[in-house]
Amino acid sequence: MKFFDLGLDEPGLRAALDEGYRRVMDRGWAILGPELEAFEAEFAAYCGADQAIGVGNGLDALVLALRAAGVTPGAEVIVPAHTFAATWLAVEAVGAAVVPVEVDPESFVLTAAAIAPAITPRTAAVIPVSLYGHPVDMAPILELAARHRLFVLEDAAQSHGALSHGRRTGGLAHATAFSFYPTKNLGAVGDAGAVTTSDAGLAEKIRMLRNYGSRRKYLHEIAGVNSRLDELQAAFLRARLERLDEANTRRRERAARYSWRLAGANGLSLPAEAAWARHVYHLYVVRSPERDALQARLAAEGIETLIHYPTACHLQPAFAHLGYRRGDFPIAEALADEVLSLPLWPGMPLEDVDRVAAAISSGSSG
Ligand SMILES: *Cc1c(COP(=O)(O)O)cnc(C)c1O
Repeated sequence: MKFFDLGLDEPGLRAALDEGYRRVMDRGWAILGPELEAFEAEFAAYCGADQAIGVGNGLDALVLALRAAGVTPGAEVIVPAHTFAATWLAVEAVGAAVVPVEVDPESFVLTAAAIAPAITPRTAAVIPVSLYGHPVDMAPILELAARHRLFVLEDAAQSHGALSHGRRTGGLAHATAFSFYPTKNLGAVGDAGAVTTSDAGLAEKIRMLRNYGSRRKYLHEIAGVNSRLDELQAAFLRARLERLDEANTRRRERAARYSWRLAGANGLSLPAEAAWARHVYHLYVVRSPERDALQARLAAEGIETLIHYPTACHLQPAFAHLGYRRGDFPIAEALADEVLSLPLWPGMPLEDVDRVAAAISSGSSG
């Protein structure tokens, strides 16, 4: 059984994607055109933000938001110790210092209580990540940030449509970075990303940065980059955005079924959903002290699983210069050793969920 399927052959979606493709081809306009404008307006409205700015990918969304907020070398940026490496890479890309803090081991996300002790006079920003689809409790983080004048950038690359106290990611922080990598809850058919924000000045700056630092053609006001969301991907994303809530509901149904079938499985911790949260299960991640054996056993039964992520960021070769060692972030290290992502996509047959759960349970009693 495969881990994921993009679901591009689902008939209603396929017709909408084909229609988007036709619109772009008929118009004959490829970059920075009406499809992107429409997608930006639709996605901003969906998130409850004033603006969305399409960029080339999720990493660029993080980097350009940090640059636009004026995070420069010498500044410190607080990030989760347990996240995808892109969160850390974005901080390094603007020359700022990565300051990792441990996540809450139940929800896998940052809390205000964990962030507070890491704040110094040099702290410029914090990047809470709504990892695996579980949102962040943003209000206490914003309160802390207001006291210390910090920029709060949510990394919502895994949580399109998640709700925190009834409000969607993308409208919670000062700015939010999204990836539309194909496997994400809202995925393109290629690379794409966006920043949402209700700060008009920040939005204007990101718009310039993504297009060579230019507002007017051939006038370059700042040293920008080329990171744009093209018309074809924007057209595809509009078709998928219309179906995002339904796709997330289907993810939640499959996650609930896993949790029901796996309840009581020996030695296994199941993902938790805070009372104030609507989790969108980008990934269904269990924890097991026997993770590697469990993964091997499932593989032997033809069930593909993945590990998000097998090496904690502070132990990655790319961050060796930060000087961290094993033991520095015990929660992140334990998660790297114990997490296992089970197959999950919106169109996954419920019988397949049952089959995976049965394969796990059959081995966990002995
Ligand atoms: C996918 C992802 C990114 C990066 O997105 P790309 O579009 O692949 O650049 C950043 N942060 C997190 C948490 C992600 O899952």
